[in-house]
Amino acid sequence: MTPIKAKNYVNGEWTTTSQEFESVNPANIHEIVGTAPLSGLQEVNDAVSAAKQAFLSWRELSWVKRAEYIDTFAQLIKRDLNELSNLVTQECGKPINEGRADVVEALHMAQYMAGLGRIPNGYTVSSEISAKDAFILRKPKGVIACITPWNFPSAIPLWVILPSVLAGNTVVFKPAEQTPIVGHKLMELFHEAGFPAGVINLVHGTGEDCGDPMVKHKDVAGILFTGSRAVGKYIQQVAAGDAYKFVATEMGGKNGTIILEDADLDIAVNACILGAFKTSGQRCVSTSRIIVDRKIEAEFTKRYVEKVKRIKVGNGMNEENFMGPLIEKSGLEKWKLHNQKAQAEGAEVLVNGQVLSGGDYDLGNFVSPFVYKMEYRPNTFCLREEAFSPHVAIIPVDGMEQAVDVYNDTDYGLSMAVITEDYRKWRWVRDHADYGLGYVNLPSIGAEVHLPFGGVKASGNGHPGAEGIMDAVTHRIAFTVNHAHEILMAQGLSTNV
Ligand code: NAD
Repeated sequence: MTPIKAKNYVNGEWTTTSQEFESVNPANIHEIVGTAPLSGLQEVNDAVSAAKQAFLSWRELSWVKRAEYIDTFAQLIKRDLNELSNLVTQECGKPINEGRADVVEALHMAQYMAGLGRIPNGYTVSSEISAKDAFILRKPKGVIACITPWNFPSAIPLWVILPSVLAGNTVVFKPAEQTPIVGHKLMELFHEAGFPAGVINLVHGTGEDCGDPMVKHKDVAGILFTGSRAVGKYIQQVAAGDAYKFVATEMGGKNGTIILEDADLDIAVNACILGAFKTSGQRCVSTSRIIVDRKIEAEFTKRYVEKVKRIKVGNGMNEENFMGPLIEKSGLEKWKLHNQKAQAEGAEVLVNGQVLSGGDYDLGNFVSPFVYKMEYRPNTFCLREEAFSPHVAIIPVDGMEQAVDVYNDTDYGLSMAVITEDYRKWRWVRDHADYGLGYVNLPSIGAEVHLPFGGVKASGNGHPGAEGIMDAVTHRIAFTVNHAHEILMAQGLSTNV
């Protein structure tokens, strides 16, 4: 393919910088998907200044009018769905059915936000004083910085950009440096949809040189970050210095699937295959711990291992492949480190994942799944830290309560699945495990845009994406109007002067 030349988009103009960086296909590192401007402080300043100016007029439009721009944009995504899906797979390696699902989710977000423009964005409440009307209304915050990861390069940016602009904010968007071309394509569609200059701006670059100045910019009112815990924590700390700056951080997970003794083992096996190995384990919600009742562990493990060994790894453009490559060499090194640590910590290796070589495998970062069994011990690195790769532990436990104790023994709290036929048990697990996304008889993966998406503990600071983000990008204000010819105060406060 001919490499695509991505640009920044600032105040309605396409711009470049003197230096560029390359986006490579992780399934074939010799294939350059495109190039993008390496931006820094100057480009960020220009983009924030354009967004600040555009906010003054964008906020004046009605929610319905703003939703109409999003509706036009949704139609363009639908038109270009195949092209976008291919780009997602080329830039981030995940198989084409996953590339397509990413874009369909992006489309759903656009449709959802277009519709949301016509529902109430505030409501009336009773006042103690009958002559007073009280309202709770949503007001936009200003310039919102949207900093996103590579693994859902179309869905996650739209989870945060679209609610922001629907509510009347303006945006500076920095896509992950691994997936600038998908970011560029989304921006082309925003441009074609006719969003006024400055409402959505795009700057490409690294986290350090481009993301960091966005976070520190005095005119940024809110930061919507999705990515690793280390970066999210740093951003929270930096933003805390500016008391007015709002931060939503959605971060990593050490997710678990709990299999209780009455589980349907076919569901259990499939849930753990999908949960652990979709996107090659590089989802924030990937299952990396299978916590299984000891009474059924042997049978589960036998069936699981048989199926894992049948997983096909290869270029994601081939529909038959279940697992694509890892995104980068650093991801592959992290996977190796976690495998080594697990062995040093006493893992019984059941499927010894390998770096794959020969033929097309030599072109990319391909590995096969790594599966091990381990008795639970507190403070075990491999059972607590995110591997973000096809690396999964099977941990035998004695009963439901121990299963939840083991599940909760990590700093994270993103996604939890429980496999059981017993409604009393899933209800107990629901109420005692720490997570933001819970599933019964399903894998720990899977999102729908009209549900909040986010975690607790170190996985998120309580401002989930998708459905949940509207609260993050608006101030809820109280507004009271008096219709009487005199002043009457609540709580019986005297008005005698
Ligand atoms: P990352 O933290 O390395 O990067 C995410 C974004 O932050 C990128 O755009 C990057 O350029 C930017 N960034 C990096 N350093 C920065 C800095 N100092 N200041 C400002 N911005 C900076 O994450 P990644 O490798 O792209 O994604 C993988 C991680 O994201 C995993 O931990 C995964 O679990 C997590 N994730 C979480 C969710 C969720 O919704 N909870 C969803 C997807 C991925």
